[in-house]
Amino acid sequence: MNAKDRARKVKMIIMDVDGTLTDGSILVLPDGEELKSYNVKDGAGILLSHLAGLKTGIITGKTSKSLEKRAEKLKIFEVYQGILDKKKALAEILEKNELNLEDIAYIGDDIGDLEVLRSVGLAGAVADAHPEIKRNSHFVSSKPGGKGAVREFIEFILEAQEKWEAIEENFKKLTKQDDFKV
Ligand SMILES: [Mg+2]
Repeated sequence: MNAKDRARKVKMIIMDVDGTLTDGSILVLPDGEELKSYNVKDGAGILLSHLAGLKTGIITGKTSKSLEKRAEKLKIFEVYQGILDKKKALAEILEKNELNLEDIAYIGDDIGDLEVLRSVGLAGAVADAHPEIKRNSHFVSSKPGGKGAVREFIEFILEAQEKWEAIEENFKKLTKQDDFKV
């Protein structure tokens, strides 16, 4: 099955955070709090996928308040922080949402993502991912992590599912600006 056929089956898009939704940089404040910067284009892509009726999720090894805030704003459906065993978190998500592995698209950048990537229906890698991650992915973005790679992955799925008309319709139905805040 090619990547486009795989993309057609996707019901939920799950993302890694560091190096995928960010460029991997972390600002550490004197009190130990960690700050990261996120890309508005990725944020808009996540909101567009919601308008298309898809669900989104995050599985990350680290824990930060900034991610919690970001995920809240973008209404990301499943947020798993501080996860050592990503495969286990994925299994929980599947059970909770009554989904199968082929319903899942996952995008990541490093070795910690490998097991999950190998198991899901559509595996994505950011342009600057570890070579092993790229080798095990059906889709490799042209943009690096934190620079619109997630947006590219989401658009590939939306394109394969021919969702643009539905997105446009649902966008028109939004009543408050709050419903589309990236
Ligand atoms: Mg990562």
